[in-house]
Amino acid sequence: MQSGNFHFSDILTANGWRRDVTVHVGPDGNIQELQNGYGSNAKRIRGIAVPAMPNVHSHAHQRLMVGLAERSGPGADSFWTWRELMYGFSSQLQPDDLEAVAAQLYLEMLQAGFSAVGEFQYLHHQPDGTAYANPAEMSLRCLAAASTVGLGITILPTLYAYSGFGGQAPLATQRRFITDADQFLGIVDSLSIQVKSQPLQQLGIAPHSLRAVTPALLREVLSAIPATAPVHIHVAEQLKEVSDSIAFSGLRPVEFLLREFALSDRWTVIHATHMTPAETEVLARSGAISGLCPTTEANLGDGVFPATAYLSAGGRFAIGSDSHISVSPAEDLRMLEYSQRLRDFTRNALAGGPSRSTGRNLYGLALEGGARSLNQPIGAIAQGRRCDIAVLDEDHPLLVGRSQDQAIDSWIFSGGTQLVKDMIVAGRHLLKDRRHLLEDEIAHRFRAVVERLAP
Ligand SMILES: [Zn+2]
Repeated sequence: MQSGNFHFSDILTANGWRRDVTVHVGPDGNIQELQNGYGSNAKRIRGIAVPAMPNVHSHAHQRLMVGLAERSGPGADSFWTWRELMYGFSSQLQPDDLEAVAAQLYLEMLQAGFSAVGEFQYLHHQPDGTAYANPAEMSLRCLAAASTVGLGITILPTLYAYSGFGGQAPLATQRRFITDADQFLGIVDSLSIQVKSQPLQQLGIAPHSLRAVTPALLREVLSAIPATAPVHIHVAEQLKEVSDSIAFSGLRPVEFLLREFALSDRWTVIHATHMTPAETEVLARSGAISGLCPTTEANLGDGVFPATAYLSAGGRFAIGSDSHISVSPAEDLRMLEYSQRLRDFTRNALAGGPSRSTGRNLYGLALEGGARSLNQPIGAIAQGRRCDIAVLDEDHPLLVGRSQDQAIDSWIFSGGTQLVKDMIVAGRHLLKDRRHLLEDEIAHRFRAVVERLAP
C-alpha cells in the first residue's frame, strides 16, 4: 500500500467543491496543501472525491448475527428477544474470533465509505466471566483488526456494572461484560499505552447505558480519565427504558442524563430516540452529539428520532452502523431522512433550508459530528486534517450526468456501497477499484469463524 499525493478532477473540500486539485499528503498522513492543478508525481484518481465518513457506533461481534434474527419467533419479537440471540453469540467468541469478525466488518466499512470507527466494546472477559491475562485483550483485538484493514479507530471500552436502574445485580448472561471501577480503569490503562504510539487510534469510554451504571460510578470513572476523552452512552433507545427510568428516578432517560452530567461536545448520546420536545431542545443546545443508527433502529423497531426538531434547534449528530444490519453511510443517512418524511408526509425534511441539497446537508453534518465524536482529525478535506477520502465511481450508471451535490444526493438516495470505488486513509490508498490487498485473507478467516459458530 502506498502513500503519496493525489490528483482529483472533482473534490469536495472544506471550502466547497473544487475542480482539478492535487492533495499533498505529509509523512504523518495529514493534508499539507491543496494545490490547484496537477502536482508533480501525484497519482491521478478518477472519480468524485469526498471526505470519508466516521462511523461512530459499532459492536463488531454483532456482525456475526446479521440476517439471523429476521424470522418471527414463537412469541412477540422485540429488541429484548433479539438481545437474547445476541447474548448467545457473545458467549462463544474467543479473542481470535473477535479479531477475525472485526477485520471483515472493518473492511466492509472501508468499502462503504467509512474511514474510522468508534468501537463500543463490551466483551471484556472470558466466557465464564474470568478476566483475560491482559484485561483489555478483546479491545486490543479490535485495534489489531483496524490496523490490519488500515481503518482509524476510537476504542470505547464499555463500563457495564449493573443490569438495571439503581444498581441491579447483573444477569449471568452478562458476565463477560461486567466490571467494577478498578477493573475498568485497568482496561483503560492498558489501552492508553497501546493507542499512544498509533496515530490512527484514539481512546474514549462508553458507560453502556443508564441501566448499566449509576451516576456515582460514572463520576468516579470520569474523574480518573483525561478530560478530553470521548464519552459515549446508549440512551432512550427503547420505551421500556423510558418507563424504567421514570419508575426509578421520576425522570425520562435524557432528562436524567442532563440532570446528572454537564453534557458537552465530548459526549455522544447513542440513539436518544425517545425525547419530549423539551428534552430535544436541551440536548441540542448542550453541544453533545447524537449518535444515530437509523438502519439498526429501524431493524430493531426502536422508533423515530425527532431529527427535524433537533436540527432546527442546532443539534449535532453523527451516524453509526451499530448492529451492522447495514454498513453504509448512504443507507443510514437515507433512512434518517425517510423516517422524517414517513412521519410528517413531507419531502426533503432535513435539507436545512430552501433550495438546498438534502444529501449534502446530511453528509456534511454527519462528517462534522462524527469527527468530533471520535476525537479524530477527519471529516473535511482541508490542510491539517488527516487525508481520509472516499472516491465515488463517476462511471457508474447512477452517477452519469451527476456532479457535485447531485452526485451526493444520487449516492445517498439511490446508491450505496457499490458507488464507492477507492478509499484513502491517512494518505494510504487502501481500496483501489474496490479491491483491498488483504480482502481474501480477511474473508477466509471470517468464514472459518462463521462456520464454526453457525447456529
Ligand atoms: Zn449500541
